[in-house]
Amino acid sequence: MKIRSVSAVYPRYRNVVKSWRTNLWQIVVRVETDVGVTGFGYGGGGRAAVEVVNGHFAEVLEGRELSSVADIAATWDELYEASIPYGRKGVAIMALSGVDLALWDTLGKAERKPVAELLGGVKKERVRAYATGTDSEWYAELGFTAHKMPHRWTGSPADHDSAVAAARRARELFGPGAEIMFDVYMSWDSDVTVEMAKRLAEFDVHWFEDVLTPDDLDANAALRALVKPTLIAGGEHEFTHVGFADVARTGAYEVWQPDITWCGGITAGLRIVEMGVEAGAQIVPHRGGEVWGLHLIAASGCEDFGEVLPGTRGGDRDELWLGEPVATDGYLEVSDSPGFGVEPNEDML
Ligand SMILES: [Mg+2]
Repeated sequence: MKIRSVSAVYPRYRNVVKSWRTNLWQIVVRVETDVGVTGFGYGGGGRAAVEVVNGHFAEVLEGRELSSVADIAATWDELYEASIPYGRKGVAIMALSGVDLALWDTLGKAERKPVAELLGGVKKERVRAYATGTDSEWYAELGFTAHKMPHRWTGSPADHDSAVAAARRARELFGPGAEIMFDVYMSWDSDVTVEMAKRLAEFDVHWFEDVLTPDDLDANAALRALVKPTLIAGGEHEFTHVGFADVARTGAYEVWQPDITWCGGITAGLRIVEMGVEAGAQIVPHRGGEVWGLHLIAASGCEDFGEVLPGTRGGDRDELWLGEPVATDGYLEVSDSPGFGVEPNEDML
């Protein structure tokens, strides 16, 4: 099988503002082949990444062989090298992620196998899901056994109290056996994090996520001993196995959270998982409950833990991917449909 064409589009989202930074910057990549098989992938980087795919990668990809996992890995390496002058991290790798995932989807469809099977087969028949967002009551009603709450440090002492109140409420709603986590999106600093660990100790918080920026790897590493038993998590803003090699070297995070639609796709994800397991880290892909991460979680050494973002009760959502698995009683199953098992909603492309 050969690649005939590759193209990317920024979907017509309705429930976000116009900026391409929004809705997690997600783009759709389509791969057409000479045998009539079409595959789709999901990348990041918004309109800027669309330009990377259509204005550069498409030319490199046309006519390439796509008959094996090794072909995908070789293609990944070539695109990475071709984009080094402007890439290595960020938008270029978010674009490469979409291409890589579309290649995996295409190969799976051609071989009539789910991506998890291409990865060696499902090791986890179901994956424990955790719900990220603000509607804690609803997630508890839906049956989730794990919940991650956003929190932002604005500089006010009241921010300590709001974190304590949120943790207390989550413990009440989800019970003593649940995992509860905080994602603070780089708004805490080291002092705030240590103080929060003290104030939140009674609520047994599983991890603090993104407390510092991804440029503060050594400072992240230094925090680990100061907030135990809570874990330091991060990595959604890190890219490729090259970037995660620095995470491993510094010991920045106990929980690694590569975003499979940003970090370089499944191909980079496999290399990151191998490196993370070797380093003794827990691998919990960002948004891992979406099919792009879920197949990797189910078939690899990732933790049995997949993030879903249910939104809020009754809230409007763009249904971009048709066939996405939905968590039932807090657990997800990988479908056995070929590829990733989803198709894009063409009305949005
Ligand atoms: Mg996060």
